[in-house]
Amino acid sequence: MNLNIGVIKGDGIGPEIVTEAMKVLDRVAEVYGHSCKYTQLLLGGASIDVHGVPLTDETVAAAKACDAVLMGSIGGDAATSPWYRLEPSRRPEAGLLKIRKELNLFANLRPAVLYDELKGACPLKEEITEGGFDMVIMRELTGGLYFGERRTAEENGVLTAYDSLTYNENEIRRIAKRAFDIAEKRRKKVTSVDKANVLDTSRLWRKVVEETAADYPDVTLEHMLVDNCAMQLVKDPKQFDVILTENMFGDILSDEASMVTGSIGMLASASLNETKFGLYEPSGGSAPDIAGRGIANPIATILSMAMMLRFSFDLDREADAVEQAVADVLKEGYRTIDIMSEGKKQTGTSEMGDLIAGYIRR
Ligand code: NAD
Repeated sequence: MNLNIGVIKGDGIGPEIVTEAMKVLDRVAEVYGHSCKYTQLLLGGASIDVHGVPLTDETVAAAKACDAVLMGSIGGDAATSPWYRLEPSRRPEAGLLKIRKELNLFANLRPAVLYDELKGACPLKEEITEGGFDMVIMRELTGGLYFGERRTAEENGVLTAYDSLTYNENEIRRIAKRAFDIAEKRRKKVTSVDKANVLDTSRLWRKVVEETAADYPDVTLEHMLVDNCAMQLVKDPKQFDVILTENMFGDILSDEASMVTGSIGMLASASLNETKFGLYEPSGGSAPDIAGRGIANPIATILSMAMMLRFSFDLDREADAVEQAVADVLKEGYRTIDIMSEGKKQTGTSEMGDLIAGYIRR
């Protein structure tokens, strides 16, 4: 199969971790007889440096011509980077929001898995995590508060800021359907998270999710208020299979879920539209504090690449092989510094990529 892949290396640790994911992907292609065509794309700070804007229309067009896009992370240190002296619409993050909108990537999928080998890195008590946990958070990505109208105005001599939160039923239905589709292939449970005791958008969310659930009789649906969900994630994470939620709640809860797994460097993510196209990137940011030192954990990006094989190319065997290679390397005791513990073998970014590539087999 020919895999036509856009590559956004991005900023900070982005180039280091994407290089390792490509190394593993090249090995997968070699072992399974595929060929990869890579198109390099600029986004975020790297695009500002070259074009003066975080995303050009040409980059959007080039991304649309690919079957999938593999991305590192974008952005820099807000306190020191010149990118953050630009007006908000020209900063790195504006490019990310724009590409999600342009590619209609409305569904963000983030698995949060506690690997047995990394139990020690989990900040929760052992009795809570006994047996591990395995959940995915399905976050709506192109609506809600982050895309609503906003303004700041002086009213009667007082500065007042407005951000509007809007969802229509179609936006809710398409993400709910995605969540139920995935739950059907997993443990068949959807926890829909909202703030229906306060917000109208949440009450509509609940109604549409319930209507969608009627088409999935095998899947159990429960509703949970977002404040309770924040507590339940640390009290009893094993209860969750698929968490379905809107944009801002999902942003916060997925970071919380990632921390209970121990390291942000382990967590993959996929942003999908209604076709097979997806943008695959690690859940973490560009980690400017460790950029260029060869110590970043590339596993989240490698697992994101595995999701790309699964969701955009239907290459399940190949995706399984990547996930198994990651598990094997962890079992052998290799660790980057962020997941290091006593008695384990510390490796750098590139060595971790080599090791995982070396474990890819049919
Ligand atoms: P961050 O995720 O970059 O870093 C948080 C902490 O986690 C840091 O200590 C970092 O060293 C560590 N970390 C992150 N990824 C790691 C990895 N692969 N291996 C080892 N350690 C890792 O979050 P931040 O510091 O809040 O943000 C830094 C920049 O990233 C900001 O400009 C922010 O806007 C941007 N960001 C981008 C994305 C994205 O591209 N989707 C997402 C989140 C943040």
